[in-house]
Amino acid sequence: MDFLRPATWQDALAVKAERPDALPVQGGTDVMVEINFDRRRPAALLDLTGVRALADWDPADGRLRVGAGVPYARLITELGRSLPGLAQASRTVGSPQIRNRGTVGGNLGAASPAGDGHPPLLAGDAVVEAESAARGVRMIPVAEFFTGVKRTALAPDELIRAFWAAPASGPQYFSKIGTRNAMVIAVCSFAVALHPRERRVGTGLGSAAPTPRRAPAAEAFIAHELDWDGRGPLSEAAARRFGELVAEAASPIDDVRGTGDYRRRALSVMARRTLTWAWNDHRAGSTGSVGSLGREAS
Ligand SMILES: Cc1cc2nc3c(=O)[nH]c(=O)nc-3n(C[C@H](O)[C@H](O)[C@H](O)COP(=O)(O)OP(=O)(O)OC[C@H]3O[C@@H](n4cnc5c(N)ncnc54)[C@H](O)[C@@H]3O)c2cc1C
Repeated sequence: MDFLRPATWQDALAVKAERPDALPVQGGTDVMVEINFDRRRPAALLDLTGVRALADWDPADGRLRVGAGVPYARLITELGRSLPGLAQASRTVGSPQIRNRGTVGGNLGAASPAGDGHPPLLAGDAVVEAESAARGVRMIPVAEFFTGVKRTALAPDELIRAFWAAPASGPQYFSKIGTRNAMVIAVCSFAVALHPRERRVGTGLGSAAPTPRRAPAAEAFIAHELDWDGRGPLSEAAARRFGELVAEAASPIDDVRGTGDYRRRALSVMARRTLTWAWNDHRAGSTGSVGSLGREAS
């Protein structure tokens, strides 16, 4: 197995163009497990940890451009206020060791239906910045990035450079159900983001379909139900209907972690609860989950 270690982003793109069979490694928390268990035997590894540009984030065009190599631990401490939903999800990933090494770039690359970074990226309208030496930069809305179980829209010569997301303009929440509180793959998960300026609600479902996905009917329904001008209370009926529509957007399987029926039911509960928390925060004039340890639906 060849081990390729470019020092710059341009070199990394050149190597990927020459060796599309080279498997990128960022934190290695997915890749090394696959290699150790002999699930994957790539002809070459493309180690991106020497590419300094990937390890930074910057404000750009009113949004944040977060390098593919920024680990969860830094995302939590440095971007927790700007991207509270993603930070909340990041706190649930693995253990401190995994959060120190693992990245959202790697989470996107792995494209597991259960990846915890995906629901908040969907709810927050994030965009993936992909690049190749031959064709340059391609901006892919995260909702179009996942094409199947562990499959993405990346071409063989493309790498993820960063993801782009607007700083939260309203409360955001992430909720995950697991068989215990830490070191657990989600049985299912849900993220909600209020976008008060656009009078819109974003959603993201995890472990509920072959790919992470949004719940468009639930988003459209609740956008019209909420009293954006008066900040009046959220009715129990509207919250419940929102939950039902989120559950209807899922197409979960039965597996060792849970049944499809359980996942649908859990999603409806998480959706109702997180929306209620977010709307109550909005009414109170707070941006919500910032800095909290996160609340889990059960
Ligand atoms: C003990 C343990 C617990 C875990 N718990 C969780 C959890 O709770 N929630 C969760 O979501 N995940 C969890 N994971 C999985 C993993 O930690 C995450 O998916 C993490 O985000 C992967 O990031 P990474 O940087 O380590 O990726 P890597 O392992 O380096 O790469 C993952 C994939 O992305 C590709 N890739 C990496 N960088 C790029 C790039 N720049 N361009 C294109 N492709 C790229 C790689 O080729 C590979 O296919 C866990 C893993 C372990 C070992």
